Amino acid sequence: MRYKILKPQYFDKFKCIGSNCEDTCCKGWDITIDKKTYKKYIKCKNINMRKKLQQHTSRNRKATDDYNFARFKLYDNKCVFLDENNLCSIYSILGEDSMCYTCRSYPRAYNCVDGVIQGALTLSCIEAARLVLLNENMMEFELVEEELSEIMISENIHSINSKNILEKYFYELREFSITLLQNRKFVIEERLIILGLFFNELDTIEECNILSIIDKYNININRGYYNNILEKISIDNTIEAQFSLLFLLSNNIIPNRSMFNERYRENIQHMIEGLELYIDNIENSRNKFIDTINGTYEEFIKDKEYIYENYLVNYIFNNLFPYNNKGNIILSYMNLIVNFVIVKLNIIGMCAYYKNDMNIERLVSLIQNYSKALLHDSTLNNRIYEYLKDNNQNTINHMILMIGK
Ligand code: SF4
Repeated sequence: MRYKILKPQYFDKFKCIGSNCEDTCCKGWDITIDKKTYKKYIKCKNINMRKKLQQHTSRNRKATDDYNFARFKLYDNKCVFLDENNLCSIYSILGEDSMCYTCRSYPRAYNCVDGVIQGALTLSCIEAARLVLLNENMMEFELVEEELSEIMISENIHSINSKNILEKYFYELREFSITLLQNRKFVIEERLIILGLFFNELDTIEECNILSIIDKYNININRGYYNNILEKISIDNTIEAQFSLLFLLSNNIIPNRSMFNERYRENIQHMIEGLELYIDNIENSRNKFIDTINGTYEEFIKDKEYIYENYLVNYIFNNLFPYNNKGNIILSYMNLIVNFVIVKLNIIGMCAYYKNDMNIERLVSLIQNYSKALLHDSTLNNRIYEYLKDNNQNTINHMILMIGK
């Protein structure tokens, strides 16, 4: 079938690196099998493979759609069809056509807005993460028409005539958000703070004002109204907000061995050691944190802001931001900021640990590990939201403090 597809220009450049991959996607999470492929497995003509496929897959009786019809059983947290060369034996023995939809399409993800497919790569794949994050130029998008034999749509938006104003003005709001986050006249923290002020104002107004608020912000941005906005934020309050999140992260990940992927846990362990995040000497940890921000981190990140920018723009595009929480614009903004702040604090922690040996590969690997940990385990973010809510910190003001300088 022919589809209109809007996708970032990086999209078609992706190529799986197979046996050279340092963190194969064939382990660490459930791999679902679609109904069509599962039926093919049952009738497979290769008797050895058929037996193996029957033995190592299981039906998902709770499936809500055909894409989730069955699963590969994992052994030692790994797919049994991954061979000794780290290659998929279904692919090498039965051919590409016998791979399930999940394995054929990963790390591509698709949503749909007004009948136009929105394609993006998820950062849980290390090769996709390199492609998305390491482009120093601004991420650009293209609209094409293509033939696709099969496609699974995660979320659908119908903006035309929608009664929900966020859905109705989805394109305008997304365009404003992406343009602001790509405005390199500001540092990344300033761009996120302006976005927060914008959503705060939007949260309180009526439908007819959305376009005029966008216009007002664009004019104010061009007039320099938000220049030096960071100077208006108290450093002490910022450090306090970030520091309490740091302890929350370290206390929730390391003790829960059953949760989160191992590689991400290792990153957190490095962060804890680097910043000496120990409850019996909080003053020492705070000093380490401040010294790292003003020293190794600042030096490391100063010419790599485009990585944050690419991370955020890809998040916005891939998650249908700001309509990803069905009309709760503040929650959508909070999700964006919590993800950004976790990544930023992790990088600060890794800078404290590796010092001058911190490098771009470690940074990309950290973002990939975090994305992979989150994709199949929402525990961490849920705990963060509960904590913020319990402490009355689920507000735009607190998000702005957590963004930091
Ligand atoms: S994680 Fe990405 S690069 Fe690695 S094996 Fe999977 S698709 Fe290929």
